[in-house]
Amino acid sequence: MILRSLELERFRNFTHKEIEFCDAINVIYGLNGYGKTNLLEAISVACLSRSFRTRNDNELVHFEESNFKILADIGLDGGLEKRIQISYNCDHGKEILINHTKTKSIAELVGSFPIVVMAPESDSVTTGPPQERRRFLNILLSQIDREYLKLLQDYVRILKQRNRLLQNARENRYKFSEKVQPWNEKLYTISRTITEKRSLLLKELEKSATPIHMEITSHLERFSIQYRPSFNLEWDKFEKFEEILNKNINLEIVRGATMVGPHRDEIQFFLNGKELRKFGSRGQHRCCLLAIKIGEYKLLQEKRSETPIFLLDDVYSEIDEVREKALNDYFLDLKQIFLTTHESDIKLDTKPEFGKEIKYYHIQDNSFAYKEMIS
Ligand code: ATP
Ligand code: MG
Repeated sequence: MILRSLELERFRNFTHKEIEFCDAINVIYGLNGYGKTNLLEAISVACLSRSFRTRNDNELVHFEESNFKILADIGLDGGLEKRIQISYNCDHGKEILINHTKTKSIAELVGSFPIVVMAPESDSVTTGPPQERRRFLNILLSQIDREYLKLLQDYVRILKQRNRLLQNARENRYKFSEKVQPWNEKLYTISRTITEKRSLLLKELEKSATPIHMEITSHLERFSIQYRPSFNLEWDKFEKFEEILNKNINLEIVRGATMVGPHRDEIQFFLNGKELRKFGSRGQHRCCLLAIKIGEYKLLQEKRSETPIFLLDDVYSEIDEVREKALNDYFLDLKQIFLTTHESDIKLDTKPEFGKEIKYYHIQDNSFAYKEMIS
């Protein structure tokens, strides 16, 4: 897909902004704090309904306002043109329109306009705690598999209900076991499906990312992914799962929280058999993340039959020459890219060998100045 243009109203530091993009490489540059990342964030909200920086949509509204609106014009690979409108109001929440028709659920948006984001915040995928990797996996799977997002929403609801029962049991309000039984069964069914889907996707992601990683690191290191699900797929009957729940029940009541299920899954990345999170150097983390992100891109493209757009926030500022070359080589394979960089740091300027259209946007004083186009 191609993002043709974007119109922002009252979004972050932009009061009103209209901007047209080129089909290949869009470089957004300017000084610190001028709104480069905000612009990428708006693209993420348009395509995924969520920011990669915050879960709190109120933060996206301009300081002096109470609502924002984003309009995005997109050309799909098959030739269809789509207009997405995201309106958010601090009191009434979010409304999504695709081609002027209000969507019934965000599942209609998520995955239809696939994006991959590599931003400083993405570092937590390899360096952060397990919930960061679960979040990464959830966003990717939601884009690939329409059913997954719905499953996840149901799972969160079931978990909340069950946890409430556990908390009430702690306060001795009633006999716990009768009330919890139906929720245990629901938990079993949904946990099983989520775990199966995650397991399958991680195998595919590993298959996609490993050769990319090998190339970036000149075959010196072997990258691998291990999925450690909390729910054991060998629990082929509900009774087996219930046995585990019963074993943990006292602890669950004390904590007021369910101890088994996909919300406790761990995903581990390894380099030459050693856990990246514990032993990886900063450079090794960056290479793995790069391979994961390009692997994610390829997977999305294959599964959705739609070419994603790639958002790169500040990636060049930390990258050494070897990896920069590898990254640039991969750029040639990608379709439409948006990247931000600092004024003094426009490395692509000196790389006409890209052979791709590059459009530069200079963000100055809350305004875009279109600079030049190289074909
Ligand atoms: P850097 O080069 O440091 O990464 P940047 O150009 O990417 O900078 P952004 O993160 O996009 O900068 O924008 C930050 C600016 O946006 C800050 O000046 C901040 O005050 C402003 N800003 C953030 N949220 C809002 C908001 N809700 N309303 C108005 N301005 C905001
Ligand atoms: Mg920034």
